[in-house]
Order: sequence, then structure tokens, then C-alpha cells
Amino acid sequence: MRTQRQVVDYSLQKRAVLRELLAGRVGTYDVCDASPYLKNAARFHGEPTDRRCPICRSENLTLVHYIYGDELKQSAGQARTLTELPVLAMTLREFQVFVVEVCLGCDWNHLVEQYLLGRDGLTGDIDGTGEQDAAVAEGAGRRRREAQR
Ligand SMILES: [Zn+2]
Repeated sequence: MRTQRQVVDYSLQKRAVLRELLAGRVGTYDVCDASPYLKNAARFHGEPTDRRCPICRSENLTLVHYIYGDELKQSAGQARTLTELPVLAMTLREFQVFVVEVCLGCDWNHLVEQYLLGRDGLTGDIDGTGEQDAAVAEGAGRRRREAQR
């Protein structure tokens, strides 16, 4: 999604957990502890992936998108399907998305990333990371230069 901003990637933390597991410093019961709520969210709102679970290697991972933000009111903290997010992003100014990967086979779960979505990102993006943002900034710069002439 183009409006994703302030993305935080948790893949380093995930790798660290998997290393601890391989080294025997933590047990699978410590990391495969998906709650019934999380598993239900994965079943009903989850996004299937073709990536194998790093623990049991027999099931594919499911991504669950949790949304948080004052504007969401009672919907805050609920899981949403990936297709619902762009719709929300058009109607709300700003909300936080937490992406959690879950294995429905062995209950492995880990936070994958978090980011902000919402209409606020469509104008005046401070980060200016996306291609579109760069193009917009370039266009604005050109317009400014033309205006100066
Ligand atoms: Zn698994």
C-alpha cells in the first residue's frame, strides 16, 4: 500500500527468537502460544501466505492485521482483512496496523511489522519514501522553480 508510513520491521527480533529456539534457550511452548482469539482472527480475517512455518514446517503462515487508533472507537484492536485496510485508509485520518504471523498448525506467532495508514499520508508525507512521494515532491519542486521564473 502506498500510504504505509512509519513502518517498523520486526524480522530481526523474529530471527533472534528463532536463534534462541535453535540454541535450546527457549522451548517451542514459549513461542508457540497463539491465543484462541489470535487463531480465530487468523481463520476469519487472516491473509494466507505461501511461506512455511519456521517451527513445524508443515503449515503455511497466516498474516493477521490488527488495527488501533482513536478514530476506530470500538473497532480498535480488532483484526481486519487485507482488503478492508485501503477502504479504512481512505476514510480515517490515521490508524496503526500491527501485522502478526500465525501458524494454525503449531500456534507459532510473532509480530512481523507495524505501520500507519490513513488519509493523512496522502498529502504532505514527511518520510517521502515511496516512489509516488518522490515523484510528487519532484513535481512540486519543478512547479516552484517554474513559478520563480
Ligand atoms: Zn507451525
